[in-house]
Amino acid sequence: MAYLVALDDGHGLSPTPTPGKRTPNIPGIGVIYENQFNRAVVNFLNVELKRCGFSTILVAPTDADTPLAQRVSVANRNRADAYVAVHYNAGGGSGVETYHFPNSTKGQRLARLVHAQVIKGTPQKDRGVKTANFYVLQKTAMPATLIEFGFMDDKALIEAKRMIDPLFQKECAVETAKGICQYFGVNYVPSTPIPLPMLRVEVDGEVLFDSQVVDTILEGVRKNLGKVISIKPR
Ligand SMILES: [Zn+2]
Repeated sequence: MAYLVALDDGHGLSPTPTPGKRTPNIPGIGVIYENQFNRAVVNFLNVELKRCGFSTILVAPTDADTPLAQRVSVANRNRADAYVAVHYNAGGGSGVETYHFPNSTKGQRLARLVHAQVIKGTPQKDRGVKTANFYVLQKTAMPATLIEFGFMDDKALIEAKRMIDPLFQKECAVETAKGICQYFGVNYVPSTPIPLPMLRVEVDGEVLFDSQVVDTILEGVRKNLGKVISIKPR
């Protein structure tokens, strides 16, 4: 039987976004809501875990701000083997911190393994593994962890902007999946890249590089936003 992982994308967007859970106004972007990030990471994480052979259950599959009691009860009722909540922090700091319930040995192990992977991969500052009496950590019957991947209101708004970067969202999901795999002693299965024809990326008429890798091409586009970019078969 496959392990069942309950996935919680903190907060909601509909009918109105959860009060307070948003970035300040970012020039040129506007306001980003916390759930936009949480939801995207959970969706990526769902794909990652399924590919690695896990079963998953989304405890808040709609855009509504599902009450915490309902989220936890879905996980408990389905006897999930682990509970993973995805959040983005606020309060003016920066970096990533990962929580477990105090005295939960298994929760601590899960939190530490996930945190170590996230710190290894993302550019975020390491704020460490911490304990808290958060409802979803306290009331869940299985090992649970809650990750705050960054700050919505960091001074430079660098982390705030990362919230809507699909490459960052995916990286957070991949590394969280690796930590979950380690916890259960399951091999992480990387995605098989979809073969593309060799593409040439040009910026302002100059050849930037040739590549068949989607992420590499996206990275090149991302670094050169605002310039004249062309991508064509070579
Ligand atoms: Zn949150």
